[in-house]
Amino acid sequence: MDVRRCDSEEPKKVPGLDDLFERVTGVERPVPPKGPKIRCPLCLWQPKKRSRWYCTCGHGWNTFDTAGRCPKCTFQWVDTACLSCARWSKHRAWYAPDDEGRGAA
Ligand SMILES: [Zn+2]
Ligand SMILES: [Zn+2]
Repeated sequence: MDVRRCDSEEPKKVPGLDDLFERVTGVERPVPPKGPKIRCPLCLWQPKKRSRWYCTCGHGWNTFDTAGRCPKCTFQWVDTACLSCARWSKHRAWYAPDDEGRGAA
């Protein structure tokens, strides 16, 4: 028997062509990353994705991934220490408003 392996299906269209067509015609631009800006409210240092905070339980993680909650012991940190100036601020104070830069100082 002349058994083919996987291509026993009928040939349909050229794979990828429709997809390409959609990409050309449909206005589908990548969404710009528009999350809340995070910075130290005191020195304006911006944490990196690889920045690590350490809980009293010894666990290290990026505290902004979990809004200040330790993923290991689930302790909720209300204050967050700056890794640059080493001062503490309210965790929510780190999230800069979108229109920061003008207005109340
Ligand atoms: Zn912990
Ligand atoms: Zn700081």
